[in-house]
Amino acid sequence: MVIPRPISGTYRNRKNIASVVLLAILFGLPFVRIAGDPLILLDIPARKFHIFGLTIWPQELHLLHMLLIIAGLSLFFFTALFGRLWCGYACPQTIFTELYDHVGRLFGGSSYGKKAAGRRVWWKVYPAWIILSFLLSFIYLSYFRPFEELAHDLAMFNVFLDGAPAPWAIAFLSLTTFSFVNAAYFRENVCKYVCPYGRFQTALLDQHSPIVSYTLRRGEPRREAHQKVGDHAGDCISCNLCVVVCPTGIDIREGLQVGCLACGLCADACTQVMAKFKKETLIDYRTIKQVDEPTAAVPYIRPRTLIYATLLLVFSTVFGVVLYNRSILHTTVLRDRQLQSLFIADIGYQNGYELHAVNKSKEPLTISVRAADGFELIQPEESYTVAAGELQKIRVIARKRERPPGRFAEPIEFKVQGPDGIQINKSVFSYPEK
Ligand code: SF4
Ligand code: SF4
Repeated sequence: MVIPRPISGTYRNRKNIASVVLLAILFGLPFVRIAGDPLILLDIPARKFHIFGLTIWPQELHLLHMLLIIAGLSLFFFTALFGRLWCGYACPQTIFTELYDHVGRLFGGSSYGKKAAGRRVWWKVYPAWIILSFLLSFIYLSYFRPFEELAHDLAMFNVFLDGAPAPWAIAFLSLTTFSFVNAAYFRENVCKYVCPYGRFQTALLDQHSPIVSYTLRRGEPRREAHQKVGDHAGDCISCNLCVVVCPTGIDIREGLQVGCLACGLCADACTQVMAKFKKETLIDYRTIKQVDEPTAAVPYIRPRTLIYATLLLVFSTVFGVVLYNRSILHTTVLRDRQLQSLFIADIGYQNGYELHAVNKSKEPLTISVRAADGFELIQPEESYTVAAGELQKIRVIARKRERPPGRFAEPIEFKVQGPDGIQINKSVFSYPEK
């Protein structure tokens, strides 16, 4: 397990700002309500996803898919432009691991992270980490369940449902355990061996993408163990500070590695060391091209960034158009399996249907239903009011006097008049065998 040594510097300050802003967003979002609606709530039991004032229903999962594609393309675009910005500054694994380290230092004192730290230190740190894991689980679950309900169930210890552990309680316990084990054991191994993004980063970077690199031609030959500082030709004094501050414990002097998060903390370390010799840092952000040609300019507009930007623009525009033309009413018609297809003397043939109407708006809306010519519709009301954000089921019976010769079934259309026009739902009208 790597516990990096704290270091100050320009990149550390930038990381601190990014972490504070992102943690404030992550911790704050589930608690924000606008006109009573959560800003973000992925309500799986109710099958409604509230995202920044937009409520996505199961019938609109394509919107969620498009949002994910846009998020993925943004990652590609910004990685090509600015390197692994996500890994070093925004990834929850990076930010949370640092949060656990802050708590570790707070409770473990100056021994925290050192080999000398004995059981006495860990006996203080582990309980604090468990409380932090508990708090983080509450935040994670608040994205899936209103926080008031979650807090109430926790306070009342309502952890059983029909005699079995409630799903939320299982999720809560699993997340708490996972957060703790991740901080205490997995840490950098997630970045090095598990995270797929680290694996395909090489495909996203090109020779003009910034990476953190070591200046070989100035640093080498570095000081050997038997040499005094100054008795070596290269500038690197082999102090190892760049390694002990690295959150993944890698030695950037060995070249670009999958485990490098491009956080820049090793650059802060070397800047401090080299400042004592009035020299420039040996480690810093450079493009792959600048590693060989230090004065090479960075062309921000190039084929790769243009392709990613175009795809991002196309998907964002399509998403905007789909969203703009989104109907506030969604209707479907299903066969009512409880009502068999019948023939009734003097009336004719009849089939039962169930109309599902989803009102996606925040206001109640009125709808009416009729069947296409040739069919008579028997229904409880002339028109229906569907409450805001609700699904209403309406059972109707379609009748037809005559059976077309030789037919066992025929298509039937239901026309649903809503606030933004008529929606046509197709189904099948079947005739009994005899
Ligand atoms: S090598 Fe440097 S930039 Fe890469 S993860 Fe370690 S400290 Fe961060
Ligand atoms: S911090 Fe700089 S001087 Fe020290 S080992 Fe790393 S590269 Fe060499």
